[in-house]
Amino acid sequence: MVRIALECPFCLEKRTNFEIVGMSTVAEEAPTPQAVQTGAAQCLNTHCRRFIAFLVRPLSPRAWETMINTVRGDGSISSLVEVIETCPEQPRPNIPRYLPPDVHSLLLEAEEVRLAKCFRAACVAYRTALDVATKELCASGRAKRLKLIDRIDRLEKEHKITPALREWAHTVRTIANEPAHMPTVVPREDAEEVAEITRMIMKYLFELPAAVAKAKEAAAERKKDGSKAIPALPAPDTE
Ligand SMILES: [Zn+2]
Repeated sequence: MVRIALECPFCLEKRTNFEIVGMSTVAEEAPTPQAVQTGAAQCLNTHCRRFIAFLVRPLSPRAWETMINTVRGDGSISSLVEVIETCPEQPRPNIPRYLPPDVHSLLLEAEEVRLAKCFRAACVAYRTALDVATKELCASGRAKRLKLIDRIDRLEKEHKITPALREWAHTVRTIANEPAHMPTVVPREDAEEVAEITRMIMKYLFELPAAVAKAKEAAAERKKDGSKAIPALPAPDTE
């Protein structure tokens, strides 16, 4: 079996063995030592077994020769190549734009903990990010001191979030509440759901208003300065 160790974008195993099922080096006309090699491989984690495509570059002409012999025989090519890309890509933290610095760093931490497959800790971290985000939006110190459940309801009453978002926010709070106090095993699906909901809430609370404000600002600038105005479309050709 020819193998390569990669991070799996499906089961999130950090460095797991894949079986190489096809590679460009076995083509009739072998590429040069410097060429990027393409291949396909299957995750050997028994719970996963998903396929990915990859791009690798041999580390040296000598590594290239050893790699060709390995690919035509048996063994691992991991120490012989630099991995350039996989498809699908390795998952990275997914953070909405324009978050306040505190909320950004808490959400980044939650994303990194989830990608490290610590799902219980991730749920607690998303809840903390939501807690701090809702505090940022509360006008009064008294509202900041409310429990998260009451603060979410208050934000809806003040029309800062919609009723649907209020319900969603309560879902994060509910899913993440138990792991915060009990040694509960949290399935990956729950953590993914909490991550998705938290991201959507953050987009609505911070990213959308900031994006709208910036677009308005840019439109006002264009109106002020005629030279920067969007040029009118040319008159249609009448010939
Ligand atoms: Zn996998």
